[in-house]
Amino acid sequence: MAFECPHLDQIHDVSPNTPEGCEECLATGDEWVHLRMCLSCGHVGCCDSSKNRHATKHAGATEHVIVQSFRPGESWRYCYADDAIV
Ligand SMILES: [Zn+2]
Ligand SMILES: [Zn+2]
Ligand SMILES: [Zn+2]
Repeated sequence: MAFECPHLDQIHDVSPNTPEGCEECLATGDEWVHLRMCLSCGHVGCCDSSKNRHATKHAGATEHVIVQSFRPGESWRYCYADDAIV
């Protein structure tokens, strides 16, 4: 329990912008494997197992580094900057 992510203040009380799936993939008709939701703005993007990796691209473009799993029954949070579950 020594590790403490310094980015947790990025987390806001958000709701998913596109609860039906990855925002960019929905726009282009692409498919995804799993989804992650940005906890700063509610962007829903596809995970790194998906070919487009929109969640990672969103984090890189916006510096929103905290995401939460958007799979039913999963609630883990991940910090891109620290590469850690937070
Ligand atoms: Zn962090
Ligand atoms: Zn996507
Ligand atoms: Zn975001």
